Amino acid sequence: MSSIFTKIIKGEIPCYKIYEDDKTFAFLDINPETKGHTLVVPKNEVDKIYELDDEDYEALMRTVKKLSKNMEKVLGRRTLWKVIGTDVPHAHVHLLPYDETWEHGRNLKLTEEEFEEIRQKLAL
Ligand code: 5GP
Repeated sequence: MSSIFTKIIKGEIPCYKIYEDDKTFAFLDINPETKGHTLVVPKNEVDKIYELDDEDYEALMRTVKKLSKNMEKVLGRRTLWKVIGTDVPHAHVHLLPYDETWEHGRNLKLTEEEFEEIRQKLAL
């Protein structure tokens, strides 16, 4: 069975899309820890990041770097990276625009308008 992230990539489940290329896909986390919290995933469905082949790993990290720099440029905040992977068995990197109130595991409640507003700012 496909992971929830594969369903998002295929458009079977909606998301707030930030970026896509031939090997990677990025969208806003539905339970953001800070405004702009983004997930970057490889299109190839592999559970753990360290199981990706080198090409997919390098493509993933190139997108992580590119979106992090853009996030910092647009929001003026340092971008944090987080790799957990205990909830969804499809490799992904969390990108978090740092803010002083951030706490690991504490989620914000955003309206659809707020999600869309930050999506438009961060989309590449
Ligand atoms: P992890 O596996 O790294 O612990 O966390 C998985 C992340 O995926 C969580 O932060 C969770 O909020 C996010 N997530 C799970 N299901 C969905 C979904 O259907 N849509 C989006 N946008 N994010 C999701």
